[in-house]
Amino acid sequence: MAWDFETDPEFERELAWMRGFVREEILPLETLHLDHETFARIAAPLKEQVKERGLWAAHLGPELGGPGYGQVKLGLMHEILGGCEYAPAIFGNQAPDSGNSELIAIAATPEQRTRWLEPLLAGEIFSAFVMTEQGTGADPTQFTCSARLEGEEWVINGTKWYISNADRADVHVLMAVTDPDAHRHHRTSMLLVPADAPGIELRRIGSMNDPEDVPSMHTQAEITYTDVRIPAENLLGERGEAFSLAQKRLGPGRIHHCMRWIGVCRRAFDALCERAVSKSLHGSRLGDKQTVQNWIADSLADIEAARLLTLHAAWKIDRVGAENARREIAMIKYHGAPIMHDVLDRAIQLHGSLGYSTDMPLEQMYRFARAARIYDGPDEVHRQSVARQILRGYEAPADGVPTEHLPTRRDAARERFADLLEAVTSID
Ligand SMILES: Cc1cc2nc3c(=O)[nH]c(=O)nc-3n(C[C@H](O)[C@H](O)[C@H](O)COP(=O)(O)OP(=O)(O)OC[C@H]3O[C@@H](n4cnc5c(N)ncnc54)[C@H](O)[C@@H]3O)c2cc1C
Repeated sequence: MAWDFETDPEFERELAWMRGFVREEILPLETLHLDHETFARIAAPLKEQVKERGLWAAHLGPELGGPGYGQVKLGLMHEILGGCEYAPAIFGNQAPDSGNSELIAIAATPEQRTRWLEPLLAGEIFSAFVMTEQGTGADPTQFTCSARLEGEEWVINGTKWYISNADRADVHVLMAVTDPDAHRHHRTSMLLVPADAPGIELRRIGSMNDPEDVPSMHTQAEITYTDVRIPAENLLGERGEAFSLAQKRLGPGRIHHCMRWIGVCRRAFDALCERAVSKSLHGSRLGDKQTVQNWIADSLADIEAARLLTLHAAWKIDRVGAENARREIAMIKYHGAPIMHDVLDRAIQLHGSLGYSTDMPLEQMYRFARAARIYDGPDEVHRQSVARQILRGYEAPADGVPTEHLPTRRDAARERFADLLEAVTSID
């Protein structure tokens, strides 16, 4: 089966349109450092153009009114969108809303679809994915934020940490402990919590990519729930099944993330090469110095490898489903995030203080890239999960001798071919 990721001419035309639209219409916005409100006003007519072109929220399957492109095509699309931080929102693909809408679509009742999913897909409301608790994000079996069923209501208590979009979300997709005594993978459930429910408090958390005192599109917050009451029917999916639902959310979404990182890498790589041919120091162009040539050659190989790995994972999801592509989905996270980081690091280094300054977009991209090694589960956790899967396919040799132990293999070969070896020796 071929997997060269060629798409049909019709979709290639869409990709070409996206490239032009992102470059001409969206990229100039990134110089303006917009807050949510200003961005929403400027973005509205651009979103209309995307909708007219039939590319709005293209990650959705046909059952939700989307084109059903599949992950390879979506990956190629996200590679283009990733080059500009505002583009995903203008194409209806902004995290966490895109992932949340997919999750709600999988598990929602008809009433939940009408109340939350439809306005979310239309871009009329916003959402937050509320899972992490401070210091245990990497190990959700330790979560303590709880929801207790009292009559016809869930009563929620606890604190969640580092939640994107919380300051503008209308609904929280919350992972809470509903069954503390169950097996550690069945203690938690997903709940849909209206963001204006009494008892919810937010504290904005500043970060490397989002200093507290600067308007930003990418805010995070701590959320405290104190005796927050929501109707029993706001349970999303089956009780005790938050783990498997969260897995479903992160599969295809990770292809989109990682292909956006490739888009970021491409911009940084172009900046690196442009600098290499335009600046001479110590008697020669920077691009003529071997260290810089190494950076360029290594960056290109790294980017191409990450791209192929990611598109292969997308191809596998399209062929056998996300459930059967878990290893590939984990690999692209811990392989891609450090590559984006390293390519940006080299581009900044070659620009010297200019690269470090806010006169270039590289420093902002670098701050974004640093977070990628942590969110969506830290790289170390995904490495561990892949290594565990791999090791399940191996067994320790019964006699304790390595299979590849050459003296042992030689003895076995001598025994097996003893007659022939003897015959050859006697001819001699
Ligand atoms: C920009 C950004 C946006 C985010 N948005 C959201 C959001 O919208 N909703 C949400 O719920 N969460 C969000 N998060 C939180 C994110 O999912 C967590 O930060 C992540 O899961 C790690 O959890 P933690 O920060 O609590 O780290 P911890 O669990 O404290 O882990 C700390 C470190 O321990 C090490 N570690 C952990 N486990 C292992 C292991 N098995 N082997 C080796 N080392 C290990 C890793 O180096 C890890 O970075 C966001 C984070 C960032 C940075």
